[in-house]
Amino acid sequence: MTITQTTPQQAIQPTDQPVIGSLVTYHGSLPDLHGRTFLLLPDTNCRFCDPDDDGPRHYTLADPDTSQALKHARPSSFTPTATNWWPSDAIDFNIAGYRYKAAYTTPGGSRWARIVHCHTATGTGYRVWCRFDGDPAPEVRALDARRLV
Ligand SMILES: [Zn+2]
Repeated sequence: MTITQTTPQQAIQPTDQPVIGSLVTYHGSLPDLHGRTFLLLPDTNCRFCDPDDDGPRHYTLADPDTSQALKHARPSSFTPTATNWWPSDAIDFNIAGYRYKAAYTTPGGSRWARIVHCHTATGTGYRVWCRFDGDPAPEVRALDARRLV
């Protein structure tokens, strides 16, 4: 499992945005890696990203078998290998502009923060520390109702 700290929750993005935790096939600017399958993760702590840039999001592509990862990948550099791999009860959840398929929150947190547990296409869990403004959104309340005790 991975835990990642995020920036405040932003507006919900269009649903055609790739889902964090998907398996993707690479076809970007590194020909030696064309056709390789990676796990799609958010592009956090990237030295190339400008935090004030509102342009297209970048992603991290992680090799599911090693610790190697490609940072700062453009959406045009990969294609998801399958659609709708997540469980039918997964909740679409936006954290810092990235789209997740969330399962539940960890007990605790505050009115402004939660640890959200998400699904991945490889069947592993993924935890994201989420900070947001004000009262929890309906998606957060729905995830809170599923907390493990
Ligand atoms: Zn980046």
